[in-house]
Amino acid sequence: MPSPVPLYKYRALLLSQSFFIKDNAAELRLHAHKYDFDMAFFSEVSQFVAAVEGDTGNGLFVIDLDALHNMQSDMLDSRKTLMLGELLQRLPAGKEYVYLQSSRQGGRYLLQQKLVDCHCLAYAEKPIANDVLVDKLFKLFVQQKRGDLVRLMHLGDMSGMDEACLHKARIELVEHDQAQTLHLRVRELQPDLVLVSDAEFARTESLAWVLKKNIEADPVREIVLLQRQPDAALMQRALANGFDAVLPAGDAGLLCAQLVNRASKIRVSKDLISKDRATGLLNKVGLQQKAQELIRQAAREERLLAYGVIDIDKFKTINDTWGHYFGDIVLKRLAVCLASHLGERDLLSRFGGEEFVLVFWDCTVEEGWARLDAMRRAFGALPFEVRAGDVRRFSFSGGMAAYPACQTENALFLRADAMLYEAKQGGRDRICPAPIARAAA
Ligand code: GH3
Ligand code: MG
Ligand code: MG
Repeated sequence: MPSPVPLYKYRALLLSQSFFIKDNAAELRLHAHKYDFDMAFFSEVSQFVAAVEGDTGNGLFVIDLDALHNMQSDMLDSRKTLMLGELLQRLPAGKEYVYLQSSRQGGRYLLQQKLVDCHCLAYAEKPIANDVLVDKLFKLFVQQKRGDLVRLMHLGDMSGMDEACLHKARIELVEHDQAQTLHLRVRELQPDLVLVSDAEFARTESLAWVLKKNIEADPVREIVLLQRQPDAALMQRALANGFDAVLPAGDAGLLCAQLVNRASKIRVSKDLISKDRATGLLNKVGLQQKAQELIRQAAREERLLAYGVIDIDKFKTINDTWGHYFGDIVLKRLAVCLASHLGERDLLSRFGGEEFVLVFWDCTVEEGWARLDAMRRAFGALPFEVRAGDVRRFSFSGGMAAYPACQTENALFLRADAMLYEAKQGGRDRICPAPIARAAA
């Protein structure tokens, strides 16, 4: 029975030569599934064009220029150029394309120029190994995503900042007016970009180092000096004192454009570092960062958190019996199932192989138990057709911990993991501590 929610978040449509598709489609698709996207293959331009036109916004469109060999044309003179033009013309407007070309084509600058001008998202040279191509396509998906908010903290005079423009680019602006407490505010709010005015820097030259030399500082964070008047000497001092860049503050539009570019690079790096590729969920690094942030918020707002660790039961047997690829599908469907039960401020992470962590915002451990148990039942009800006519169901076990009873992310994990161990010992397919055991305790 097909799952009602699509298993993969994105889809790549590839137009190529029929023999290339025949040789590579299966392998490409297997690689793509590890990166949370599916692939569809086309050897006919008209079918590819129809699929591009019908795309609902989660597709990436790849054109292998060897597909030109599929196209019938009776033009004999300067055949290649004309046919390429013909192909490009038939592509739906308002979309961007990834072009795959031979190394001979790649060596021709004029051709590159023509492609880059034709709604080109990226181009790549063949031969390219299937796993490498999938990895590159994945990075394009990451770049195209709307992405998380980027937080920008600003020290000093805010005039000259185009707040509406930043807001539109999903950059959140936080103002701070005390140089002496900037490091505390940065530790608390973990901004991705910190802007310091030249006047503030002139008063306190060690500002950037105080932020950066904290051993816990986020290495992706950028510290930028905003300069009102060009001053090469000041610029050099700033760069020698830990600033990553100096931007001119005079023109609000220009400044906004520069900040938007920096923010999108930061967003992509953060995404690649903090997300699990196979499921799109937070990985261990991402979870640590977000959970610590959530704990700080819970402390500030005096809220409770419930923290759960789950682990699929007998997953090794699932792999050994039906193969690793089937095991991956089980993981995917669990991820999709868990994600569909999440609240806006909850966290979900694929912590390791078949272990997931959930953090429920503003939730007692009892409520957390009930929510995780509902997820356990929902997953347990999913039918998996392992072979035609042979439907199986699987289960997971879980352990719960609570904030503020456990104060740190590490303490929460250790407690929940100990409870998970109890659930496994107690026979699996359950969440510990169960409400009755807690009532008795
Ligand atoms: P238990 O009920 O005690 O948890 O038993 P188990 O078999 O699930 O536990 P165990 O830790 O022995 O096995 C986990 C298996 O998960 C072993 C490993 O090969 C598999 N695994 C880890 N990551 C992946 C993955 O990304 N895909 C697949 N298919 N298997 C994975
Ligand atoms: Mg395990
Ligand atoms: Mg397991």
